[in-house]
This record gives sequence, structure tokens and C-alpha cells, in this order.
Amino acid sequence: MRALTILSRYLVTTIASIIAVAACIAASLAAMQAGSLSGVPDPRTLALLAGIAIAASLAARLAFRQATTLHTLAEASRQLVGADENAAGDAATTDDLTRLTASLQQITARLQNTTVSSDHLERVLDTLNDSIIVTNNEGIVAHINIAAAKMLGFAAVQMVGKPIQEFLTRQHRNTFTLTDANRTCESAFITRNGNEIPVSYSCSRIDTEGFSAQGFIIAARDISERKMTERRIRYLAKIDALTKIPNRMQFQHLLQQMIARAQKDALQIAVLYLDVDHFKEINDTYGHTAGDTCLESVASRLTRILPEYAVSGRLAGDEFAIAIEWKGPHDALTAYLQSFSKHLLTDLGRPLIVQGHEIHMELSIGIACYPQHGDNVIDLIRNADAALYHTKRSTDSKFEFFDAQMNAAAVERLMLKSKLRRSYELDELLVHYQPKVDVKTGAVVGAEALVRWELSERGLVLPSEFIPLAEETNLIVPIGEWVLNQVCADLSDWQHRIAGTGRISVNLSLKQLAQPNFTSRIQHILERHKIAPEALELEITETVLMRDPDHTIKILEQLSALGLTLSIDDFGTGYSSLSALQQFPIKTLKIDKSFIRDILVNKDGTTIVSAIIDLAHSMNMDVVAEGVESELQLSYLKVLNCDVVQGLLFGEPMTAKNYFDLLVANSQGNASYQKWFA
Ligand code: C2E
Ligand code: MG
Ligand code: MG
Repeated sequence: MRALTILSRYLVTTIASIIAVAACIAASLAAMQAGSLSGVPDPRTLALLAGIAIAASLAARLAFRQATTLHTLAEASRQLVGADENAAGDAATTDDLTRLTASLQQITARLQNTTVSSDHLERVLDTLNDSIIVTNNEGIVAHINIAAAKMLGFAAVQMVGKPIQEFLTRQHRNTFTLTDANRTCESAFITRNGNEIPVSYSCSRIDTEGFSAQGFIIAARDISERKMTERRIRYLAKIDALTKIPNRMQFQHLLQQMIARAQKDALQIAVLYLDVDHFKEINDTYGHTAGDTCLESVASRLTRILPEYAVSGRLAGDEFAIAIEWKGPHDALTAYLQSFSKHLLTDLGRPLIVQGHEIHMELSIGIACYPQHGDNVIDLIRNADAALYHTKRSTDSKFEFFDAQMNAAAVERLMLKSKLRRSYELDELLVHYQPKVDVKTGAVVGAEALVRWELSERGLVLPSEFIPLAEETNLIVPIGEWVLNQVCADLSDWQHRIAGTGRISVNLSLKQLAQPNFTSRIQHILERHKIAPEALELEITETVLMRDPDHTIKILEQLSALGLTLSIDDFGTGYSSLSALQQFPIKTLKIDKSFIRDILVNKDGTTIVSAIIDLAHSMNMDVVAEGVESELQLSYLKVLNCDVVQGLLFGEPMTAKNYFDLLVANSQGNASYQKWFA
């Protein structure tokens, strides 16, 4: 992909040079013509030629600024020869298209009135790989280049004189507007054969400054393959690789949708949590392959007997779940669930022949119902799990319904909430730092700040347990601000003692971003500790980004303008499309650790990580791989061109002092992991 980007820059350079030459030729021709007729060049011709020359030199400057050295061109050719023609290959870089239309717009405007030069313009346009469509002010097609004709399957004469809307899919006709927006948007054309082609496009007004033609110039690039890759990524992110049924995340998402419907239409829901009894013994006795076959067969049997309004999912190893939507009274649902559970146990308990062995599986089931036992995804799954726990301990039943007494955990949550508030007030929270390491050099390039809470009676409580509690009580806002302050204080301390502390990233919660004065609060913290914004990065999960995109984009633009770096955290676990993420000023993409784990598990795992890295690079983002635990994962990530790695391989999240010691060791070339980068 980088090869294509470099090559496209090379192309822009070449075009700019052609235009410069064309301008000179046109200038000489016009001068000769003007001279032979009257001896005095026409001022309009001179102005036009000056315009061409300026536009050409602007384009050339732009292109040369972008064009990389001979070295990178050589690299581009090398990469192209061995280029992986995978799906990411066609992803358009936003800037390319926008700059291209801007340059073309200037040039077109100035070339419009002379036949000599418009021939040159046509020739230039035809050399471009991107589709160019020129329209008048009303959107009537005035000109298309060869690439556009090829992409759409129409000859120029079949398009010229018709509204551009005619060539868009019905769905995109209303959203396609001709404006001088100076940014890349997405739309879809319809070809002569009726095929849809998704495109990334940029539109620019032709500003004629006194010349006759007016209108718009549109540069479009086919992004079908990128869309396909995105769909594949999204599919793989939702489906469990082994059993091909929804994974935990997707099951939760489907249950969430079901709850929303139930709230609207007064429906009931039952969540059945299933667990294979003594699955470890099956694995130990017959081996992992046989174990996997058993799990596949549970999933396929489940799918076969799933009622009409129900979904299933694999929540973890040998744990599965079913959610059933129910219209009718609760008593009828309870009766139905009793008979359905018995049916499930019998059907899933049928013997299975695996590698010549007859395996008998038994299951246990825990059931929780909406709205009686919980009105949200977390409570329903947790309570079904609590019921399952009881089933497992019971000697006479294989399924049980949730009962409030089962949930000692609920009481504990309440207590934890008040303890957390007290710990925060007593300043007992801690910030630990997990180093991030440059894949190419092995140097520490920064760290992620992770909040820690230590309870004397329980030891370390994990953020996955207490951050949701803090979110529920809004305590996350002051905690988040405390973390930012602590990080800046630590940065200030380190910066006084060593050069190059790296950039420290801090996780942000939705509630922090929703504060009306969030940007000025951050600015204030930075000023208070005299920390440059470049030293701080903010990590925001995909889900948070997409919750209220219009508001979020405004805040992120302010933060980015301040000089802060923004990154997408846990990428791949949300449901947004990469194109949707393109609108945010994001510099870094962090691939979720679940994908990194899968790198070594199956081929799909490697493909998906490779595709994400390529796509991110094509959108000018750096990529951080989270959860790197082994040297083997690291070596894969090196090959896949990942930029930065973070994970247990390079250290657990550590105290501020230990991170400082690591920075010192790193600056002296003594950090223990530097051997992997020699
Ligand atoms: P995250 O931002 O994705 O942070 C990375 C998590 O992965 C951390 O978990 C880290 O300890 C863990 N991790 C690092 N390397 C490895 C590895 O090699 N293997 C595995 N399996 N895990 C690894 P932690 O510290 O438990 O934090 C969990 C989540 O809590 C974080 O996920 C983040 O979303 C949230 N969090 C942590 N600190 C804060 C904070 O100050 N504010 C907010 N809003 N959220 C925070
Ligand atoms: Mg994070
Ligand atoms: Mg993360």
C-alpha cells in the first residue's frame, strides 16, 4: 500500500512536470501567434499563461514537497514488485484526492479558454489513474477522463450533458453534493452494467477569475476492495473463529439490540448460559483437536435447535449462551424454558464420535430473564452466570433460574462503589505505566498510563472491575482528571532528569469527553505542570468515538489543534467502519489484544492484523499492537510492518519509578528486550 502511495506521489510530480512543460509550450506558441499578428501579446493571453505557469509551479511544488527521495522511489518499485495485492491496496489516502482536485481546479480554470492548452489539459487528465469528472454549476457532466470512462463503462459522449446524479446509486443521490468542501467523502457510482462502485471522492469548485467556464471538478477513486476488506474484518471480529457463531462481543451486541426492542414493545427475554461439564477432562483425555470438535458440535447443534426469535454465541472456552425473545406472560415463558432446557440437555448430550471415540458431553444451564432479573446486558449475563454456578454445585438439577439471593456479587458491587469513592478521596489510587516499544529500533517511545486500585483486604482490583463502577457513579470524571494530573506531574519529574521520556497516553472515558469544558480543563492541566501537549496522547475506544460522533469530532478537533495526539483504543472490538473513523483527527490505531492473540492461532488471525495495519497506514495512521506476549508474536508483527508494540513481553504496567529506570536503561542500550531488535 505504501508503495502505491509513494507511486501516486511520483505520478503527481510527473503530471506537474508535464503541466509545467505544457505551460511553456503554450506560452511560446501563444507568444509566436500574438507576435505574428500584432507584434504585441494580448494581455489576456499573457495573464492566462502566467496563471498556467503559477498553477503548474504550485502543483510541482506541492508534488515535490510530497515526493520522497530517489531512495523511497526505489523502495516503492521494490515493494510494488513484491507487493501484496491484498484488499487494502486500493484504499485512497484522503489528502491525495483533495490535493489533486485543488490543483486540477486551478489549472482547469486557467486552461478553459484556449484550445491549445485544453488539449494539454485533456491529455494530462487522461494520464491520471483516478477518475475525473468535470461538471457545470448545475452538476451537468461537461468532461470525463479515460479512467472515469473505464470505471463506469460509459463513453464520454454518453455521459456529457447528463446530470452527474444519474450515475450515482439511488441511495447516494441525495447525499452527493457539489461543494468546495476541500475534504474526501464517500459515495457510490453505478456502472453501465448496473454494478455499484463505492468511491472515495473529492470535489472542488472551478474558480474562473474572469474566464467563461464555471463548475466543479470531481476526483474519484474506486474503493471496492477496501470496503470488502472492511466487511471481512468486521465479520471476523464478530464471529468466533472455531465455531463460526457470534463471539462474546457480538452476542452482547445482539442482546443489547434485543433489550432495546423489548423495551419498546414490552417483550420478555431469557438468557441461557451453558457450560460443558468437565470439558477439561475431554481435552486432557482425547487431546485439544477432539476438544475443538466437541465445541464445534455444541455450536452446530445449538444453531439447529435455536427457536425462531433467538440468537446464540460462544462466550468463552466451553461457555455458550442463548438469548430468546418472548411475547407473552412471564409464567408461559418459564414453562417454555423448562421444556426447552430439557430438550437442549438431551440434544446436546447425544454421544459424539470423535477420532473413533464415543464422547458423552453433559451440560449445565443457568437462566436469567429480562426484565425480572436484570434490565441490561451486563446484569443479565452476570445473573445467568450466577444461576449456572448454582447449577454446577447442585447434585439434582441441570438448569436453574436466577434468584436474587444467588447474587452475593451484586452486594459486593455496591460495597466496592463506596470503597472506590473513599479510596479516591484519600488519594489511594495509583498510576502505572506500560512501555511502548518501536518495532524497528527497540527503543521505548512512550508508555500507556493505567490506573490501579489496591485494597488492603483484596489486593489489586483490576480496572475491568472498577472502571465500570466508576462510570456508573460518574466518579470516572474526577478519577480521569486525577490520572491526567498525575501523569503530567510524573512527566514533569522525568523531564527534569532525562531527555526523551517518550509520549504518555491516557485512557479517556465517554463521560470525560462529554464535559462541556473538557478541552480547557486539559489545557489548564498541561499549563499547570508546564508540559508540552506533544508529550501527551489520549486513547479513546472505538465505541466511545461513535457514541455521539458529531459532538466528539468537535472536541477531538480542539484537542488535536492543541497539539495532543489522539488514538483509537481496542480497535476491532467496536462496530464502526474504518471510513467512519476517517472523519476523526486520529493519529494512532491500537489493535486490540484479542487480534494479536489470534495471530498465532489461525491464518485468519494473521490476515486480519495484516489488513488492519495496511488500512491504517493507508489512512496515515501509526499502528500499535496491544497485548504482545511472545517473541513469536513480535516477529510476526515485524514482518507485518507494525510500528509500535506493547504488552507483557516488554513488561507489566510498572510504577513511575520503574518506568524512569527503564528509560535510563533504554538510553544506555541496556533494556533487557533490546536483544530482540539487534
Ligand atoms: P486498555 O486501554 O486496552 O489497556 C490495556 C490493557 O491490557 C491493560 O489492562 C493492560 O494491563 C493489559 N495488557 C497489557 N499487556 C498485556 C498482555 O500482553 N496480555 C494481556 N492479556 N493483557 C495485557 P488493565 O490495566 O487491566 O486495564 C484495562 C482497561 O481499563 C484498559 O484497557 C482501559 O480501557 C481501562 N483503563 C485503565 N486505566 C484507565 C484510566 O485511567 N481511565 C479510563 N477511563 N480507563 C482506564
Ligand atoms: Mg488503552
Ligand atoms: Mg486497549
